[in-house]
This record gives sequence, C-alpha cells and structure tokens, in this order.
Amino acid sequence: MPCPVCKTNIPFDPIMLLKGSSFSCPNCRAVISISNQSLESAQSAFQKMEQIGKKQKS
Ligand SMILES: [Zn+2]
Repeated sequence: MPCPVCKTNIPFDPIMLLKGSSFSCPNCRAVISISNQSLESAQSAFQKMEQIGKKQKS
C-alpha cells in the first residue's frame, strides 16, 4: 500500500486492515485509516485472495 503523502510502500497486515485498523507510514509517520467503502473492497479482495490460496493448496 503506497503512502498517500510520500509514496513509500507501507507494509500492512491484511487482517488488521479488515478490522479497520489504521496504519502509520514508517517514513513520514502519516496515519492512514481506511474508510468504510475501502474496507468493503478490501474485504472482498481479501476473500478472493483466500479463495485463490485454497485452490492452489488443494
Ligand atoms: Zn509516508
């Protein structure tokens, strides 16, 4: 996830993201919190990732 301020790629835990946690940029300390709309798209994206992962394992 790129920082909206300094474009640094911010490492984030998708589980935390789904819980609606906010993240701070390690470079500029900007705090990024996810909006409800983004949260929904993140959740659907994460579910797709999980489904793909299950298919690859089996
Ligand atoms: Zn930043």
